[in-house]
Amino acid sequence: MIVVIDGPAGSGKSSTARAVAHELNIQYLDSGALYRAVTYLFLKSEQSLPAFFESLYSAKLSFEFGNEFQVNLNGEDITSAIRDPKVSAQVSTVAAMPKVREYINDLMNNAVQQDVYIADGRDLGTAVFPNADCKFFMIADLETRAKRRHQELSLKGLQMSYSEVFAEIKQRDRLDSTREKDPLKKADDAIVVDSSTFSFDEQVQYIVSRIKETITIE
Ligand code: C5P
Repeated sequence: MIVVIDGPAGSGKSSTARAVAHELNIQYLDSGALYRAVTYLFLKSEQSLPAFFESLYSAKLSFEFGNEFQVNLNGEDITSAIRDPKVSAQVSTVAAMPKVREYINDLMNNAVQQDVYIADGRDLGTAVFPNADCKFFMIADLETRAKRRHQELSLKGLQMSYSEVFAEIKQRDRLDSTREKDPLKKADDAIVVDSSTFSFDEQVQYIVSRIKETITIE
């Protein structure tokens, strides 16, 4: 069983999906983190495409959800490393590669066959899980999203100015929504949640209640 939340960077998908997962006692899958993990590998391959794909196909990429969404690559915990601004700057370019998308989609499809998941991303309701049991699309204006992301990065001690964060999110929005393969797009049957009109708790409770109306989770 799968519930999906799509939306642009900084719309609040990840924190909301994580809180919903805890509340409903289901698994959380952060698809953006998987694209970031692959981008981390791309940067390690010094951006050489043959070296990158060779290391990708032999890589052991795994994830688990406890308190947070943890990503391991070849036995190394890269959960913090994938939030580095160098990864953020390249991730949309790497994520636009069709072979990368196939690789991540296979990984996600295998996982959701084993358990009940809430996953967040860009194309989950349209391309990856078009038959998802419940779909949401989170939005917020660019300024709200940039402020939120800037605050998160500052709390983690990462030095980026507000205007740099704003420019990076704007650029990722453009690349993610205009790429040829599986762009960021609202599914026709997704419920729109504007995170600038809700408090965090209200938004979590709204999504939990819509899920409970639609599906039964044991
Ligand atoms: O969610 P987050 O901002 O960490 O995602 C990082 C990037 O991964 C996005 O900007 C996008 O380029 C890519 N992505 C994607 N499809 C998804 C999830 C993320 O292309 N389903």
